[in-house]
Amino acid sequence: MIIVLIGLPGSGKGTQSQFLASKLKLPILSTGEIFRKIAEIDKKESASLNNYMLQGKLVPSEVVSALVQKFLALKEYESGCLLDGYPRNIKQAEFLRSITNQEIRAIFFEVTEQVVVKRILGRFTCINCKKVYNTFFDKPQINNICDICGFTDFVYRKDDNEEILKERIKVYNEETKPILEYYNSQGILNFVDATKDKKHVELLLSNLLEKI
Ligand code: AMP
Repeated sequence: MIIVLIGLPGSGKGTQSQFLASKLKLPILSTGEIFRKIAEIDKKESASLNNYMLQGKLVPSEVVSALVQKFLALKEYESGCLLDGYPRNIKQAEFLRSITNQEIRAIFFEVTEQVVVKRILGRFTCINCKKVYNTFFDKPQINNICDICGFTDFVYRKDDNEEILKERIKVYNEETKPILEYYNSQGILNFVDATKDKKHVELLLSNLLEKI
């Protein structure tokens, strides 16, 4: 089964994809993560990817979809996966349907724009174990030391600033939101109240998984 995670930036898709992955024993395919890695290691690609990513725009669907198609053809994904950040528009959703025979389910992480602004603008990550923190409400217990692995280096995502976030929200509302109706009309859309804290959302997801 392929589970598509949909929601505003900062709605918790990335965080909860890890919980879902360990619960369902499915791999995560995060297009944003892949692009960030490519941009880090490949100077040439980095310039063209950052043209989109650092403006809060979508990378062209042909590029993303070709990438997803290649990944989904790998053995690792033959039992399905959790898709974090794909599809991002109807064109991508239709493409996904056309390249796999897997059952598809969608989970919508429902959250308000006010909540995501605080989550995103305060978000930082341990460079070693990738634990995510927040300057407003979830700092490490000892300042600048990761609770999990003890590392002292953290990173802010380059596109987590106010101006880019505004554009990412706009793009989400214009391009991604219509996917909700697309999946709803197929009877495969599920909702989770993503304004709740991490543990609470995990509980909601556990209950949801029994029904989908
Ligand atoms: P994310 O980590 O999902 O917020 O993605 C970060 C950035 O990568 C987005 O703002 C887009 O520029 C790009 N990106 C990720 N997934 C997609 C996608 N499915 N379609 C187009 N662009 C994408």
